[in-house]
Amino acid sequence: AAAAANDDIRRRIRTIPDFPKPGVQFRDITTLLLDPQGLQLSVERMLDQIAVPVDIVAGIEARGFVFAPAIALALGAGVLLIRKDGKLPGATIAEEYALEYGTDRIAIHADACTPGANVLLVDDLIATGGTARAAVRLLRKAGATVRQAAFVIELPDLGGAEMLRGENLAVTSLVQ
Ligand code: AMP
Repeated sequence: AAAAANDDIRRRIRTIPDFPKPGVQFRDITTLLLDPQGLQLSVERMLDQIAVPVDIVAGIEARGFVFAPAIALALGAGVLLIRKDGKLPGATIAEEYALEYGTDRIAIHADACTPGANVLLVDDLIATGGTARAAVRLLRKAGATVRQAAFVIELPDLGGAEMLRGENLAVTSLVQ
């Protein structure tokens, strides 16, 4: 049943070649989100894969923000926004990570989690894992206990999930 549900999710994801630049196969979840069954199934399946206690669901800007609240509401958890640096109004901590060309920075409020809070990390897709690793480091710096990262899509060839498992995390995805 889980495999059939994941096929239902897979065929609702659209691939756009050469976006945002030549050679990239962009996995577009807007088609999945537009479909009521696709949206519901993906949230339900992510919930099925949660294997740790969760006090807070942390979503990564921007597409992680779609799934984090849906999961949090079902679990009775709160939502933590991991944003591009410069967007949050209070005192923040930030972490830099490498892009193919250059670097980027993500940030959270310094007081976003009480020490020891169980935080589940959520995003739409893991590729190299650079973004997720920076997010985990940030959350742990803030005192969070982070034991699982959940994604809709994993690109296994890029090794991101394997790399994150080396950071002592359970890594789950619905579609590879
Ligand atoms: P990475 O840090 O390499 O794991 O990249 C993950 C981030 O970039 C996620 O927030 C994704 O939404 C986005 N991303 C990377 N590659 C793709 C792709 N092929 N299709 C859609 N989004 C992608």
